[in-house]
Amino acid sequence: MMELKEYYALLNVNVVDGYGGYPDANQYVKIRGNNIVEKGPMAEYHRDLEAQELDLKGLFLMPGLIDAHVHLAGGRGSGDYGDTEIMMEPKMVRAMRSVYESQKMLKRGITSARDISWNGLYLKRIFGEGILPGPRIVACGPGLARTGGHCDSYQLTEEYVKEQHFWAVLSDGNDECRKWVRRILREGADQIKFWASGGGNWPTDRITDTHYTPDEMKTICNEAHMIKGTMVCSHAETRETIRMSVEAGADTIEHGEELDEELAEKMAERGIILVPTLALLVNWYTAVAPIGEDAVKLIRPDAFLYRTIDDKTTAEEGKAYTQQVKDSFRLAREKGVKIALGSDTVYEPATEYGESSLLEFKELIRCGMSVREAIKAATLTAAEALGMSHRIGTVEAGKAADLLIMKKDPTTDADVLYRHENILWTIMNGRLTVDEGRFAF
Ligand SMILES: [Zn+2]
Repeated sequence: MMELKEYYALLNVNVVDGYGGYPDANQYVKIRGNNIVEKGPMAEYHRDLEAQELDLKGLFLMPGLIDAHVHLAGGRGSGDYGDTEIMMEPKMVRAMRSVYESQKMLKRGITSARDISWNGLYLKRIFGEGILPGPRIVACGPGLARTGGHCDSYQLTEEYVKEQHFWAVLSDGNDECRKWVRRILREGADQIKFWASGGGNWPTDRITDTHYTPDEMKTICNEAHMIKGTMVCSHAETRETIRMSVEAGADTIEHGEELDEELAEKMAERGIILVPTLALLVNWYTAVAPIGEDAVKLIRPDAFLYRTIDDKTTAEEGKAYTQQVKDSFRLAREKGVKIALGSDTVYEPATEYGESSLLEFKELIRCGMSVREAIKAATLTAAEALGMSHRIGTVEAGKAADLLIMKKDPTTDADVLYRHENILWTIMNGRLTVDEGRFAF
């Protein structure tokens, strides 16, 4: 097995730096301890006898991939009631499984992830200790959802949901929102997440409804921002909730499939990042929540909402929604909104860890980005969404050495990164972590 010393120089390598360009040929990169200390063309390389030298001629070096939206839920669920099944298992089982989920992502080249779940708060610590290989976790902890909102499984009692939910806490009114933000930060969260709109899983969780008042949203954002450097991400699927989140001070918009020109311009101007989770939304009415009778049975059981019980999503409506997702994404790109890769991987087998991140990478390209732009969305811009661009996301002196050594040029087509056998080494914090698909420690 390959061994990397404390101080080493990678020579003759083609560097994809994370800024969205083509590879710079024939470069060297020096790494000492956790960090990149020097980078430049081979013509300027000065040998340092202390440094271990490795000739990477013909290979490509790029920043590790970053997924800005995952739930390391640790559950196993599929079909109509996946989240409910997950809550039936002990938290400890979910916590342990989330290690496997994280490691599965790392094996696909994802060296950092922003997690929305309880598990992320603790995964962050154990991977940070460097004993187990795992990605860098930027933890949101559980997000804030209203009672009846995006986590509140109606099949269970409110008390059970409060005790067992894995991606959210029920929080209503300014006082509870303030308290929950403080509690979550106390547990070690880096960011705060909330659901401005519903998420489409339960009868009282329609994506078309607004879930928090402007006041509650402002409380959440202000409270988080009081602890400097804390970013806020808002799940907002309607024009109204995107607008309210932007006004409240959210730093990233999750999904955001109903942008208009004014909103896109405002987001671009303020540097608010969009995490469009395209693969999920583009396929919503074909793979996630199929239209027709089943969908009605699934999301609107008889006990709920008689006023809408006869509503059925028609094929036309499904198609129109998919088009809206694509149009909103195109508008964001046209207006120069920063876009970060986020897969919304939530539990297996419905969504597979690692695989889903790379499917999102492909979807960004299918919906109009060049491969180089998608790489930037999965490196530099995702690092910004994590609030970590001072440390990760590009290949530059002073940054952490979270790197992929690729056998092929990743900028040529989406399949190069999609196929994990193209990754020779994954280096994290300067340390060889995955060697040809196997963990190096
Ligand atoms: Zn999500």
